[in-house]
Amino acid sequence: MRVIVVGAGLAGLTCAKVLRERGAEVSLFEASDGVGGRVRTDEKDGFLLDRGFQVYFTSYPVSRRHLDLDALDLRGFDPGAIVVEERKRSVLADPLRDPKALVPSLLSNAATFGDKLNTMRVAARAAADPSTSAGEVDVEDTSTLDCLRGNGFSERFIQSFFRPFYGGVFLSRSLYTSSRMFRFTFKMLATGRTVIPARGMGEISSQLASHLPDNALHLESLVEELLRDGDRVAGVRAAGREREADAVVVATEAPEAGKLTGEPVPEGAVGEVCLYYETSGVDRGRKIIINAEDDAFVNNAVQISNVSERYAPPGRHLFGAVVLGGYDLADEELFRRGIEEVSRWYPDADFRPLALYRIPYGQFAQPPGVHAALPANRTATPGLFLAGEYTEDASINGSMLSGEKAALEVLR
Ligand SMILES: Cc1cc2nc3c(=O)[nH]c(=O)nc-3n(C[C@H](O)[C@H](O)[C@H](O)COP(=O)(O)OP(=O)(O)OC[C@H]3O[C@@H](n4cnc5c(N)ncnc54)[C@H](O)[C@@H]3O)c2cc1C
Repeated sequence: MRVIVVGAGLAGLTCAKVLRERGAEVSLFEASDGVGGRVRTDEKDGFLLDRGFQVYFTSYPVSRRHLDLDALDLRGFDPGAIVVEERKRSVLADPLRDPKALVPSLLSNAATFGDKLNTMRVAARAAADPSTSAGEVDVEDTSTLDCLRGNGFSERFIQSFFRPFYGGVFLSRSLYTSSRMFRFTFKMLATGRTVIPARGMGEISSQLASHLPDNALHLESLVEELLRDGDRVAGVRAAGREREADAVVVATEAPEAGKLTGEPVPEGAVGEVCLYYETSGVDRGRKIIINAEDDAFVNNAVQISNVSERYAPPGRHLFGAVVLGGYDLADEELFRRGIEEVSRWYPDADFRPLALYRIPYGQFAQPPGVHAALPANRTATPGLFLAGEYTEDASINGSMLSGEKAALEVLR
């Protein structure tokens, strides 16, 4: 069986891997110059720059089926966060997995004792949930904000912790994102470690691509249209050449999939601008720094070379800062406002602009109810299949699950 996969993001790569494992002949066409889609790492002057701040959760149930986690040489963040409020930094420990830090964290002004107990209660419930993706979480779907209020968290804790912390996860501080997504990521946080591969998030994509023979992967090969034979899809036109196949899996971002296939796809997106600075060194911590100020410009930040020293040349430091929006601002303005903000938190440190990434399409929008109405992997058109985060949930785990499911549908 000959199968064409369009797009070498995590969904397309996983789909191609599963198809090959089951004996199909696979060709993967990717428009850009490398694999990974939204999960790529660039190297610049010895610094490793992920295309947007991303992390991997070791509890992801699907991706661990396809990744050799040992080979990724994972490096962990410390649980909890550093919360910045009124220009002061306070440590919010994770009482679930860092009990010795509970006492200092109770002194932090961000959370009440009731919030700590609620955190443990919600985490225990989330940990017992058997779902393998956000879409499977079996609760009445509301916004994350309503879910937090319904669970009795104080407004102060929501503002100081959940808004900026989940702002970084959902790429939106509004907390309008589906509570299924909240519960699923809460489970990941409570049951595993938050990590990055030592040599950058792009290693995840490279490892998946290593399962494909060289001649299966066609980079810089934009698929311009699908070829149709009567009512079925029979191939693609890629970089001007027609290629035939028994089945085509379109594994692009949702808007491109909609254009290529004519299938209905979810609309809307959230994104970020990721700023990278070389710094003289802010501290030695491996906690994510979150900004609880109402008028935050930088939502979250981390000296990423503390988590993996490979992200910076020896003796030097890489600091990443995430801005939720600001795509229209000039580079200099983004860097300047970023420095203005983080210098208030670390007045003794220097920040030198290195690079920035504007990513307006970071994740498809996931308002309450969205997961119940996502497209299926098998379309009504014979020979045409869909893969991509937008068929499951916006995450590494969700996109890989979608690729796996699409492959199994093709083979069925
Ligand atoms: C800034 C940011 C932060 C994130 N943070 C996290 C996180 O911390 N943890 C987490 O689990 N997830 C995170 N995510 C989400 C996760 O990265 C995505 O859900 C996932 O990578 C999407 O994979 P995909 O394969 O569905 O799509 P994509 O990665 O977008 O892949 C689609 C591919 O199709 C190619 N393509 C498009 N059109 C064509 C065409 N016509 N012909 C050929 N090729 C084409 C594209 O070039 C691309 O390579 C984050 C995403 C972003 C952007």
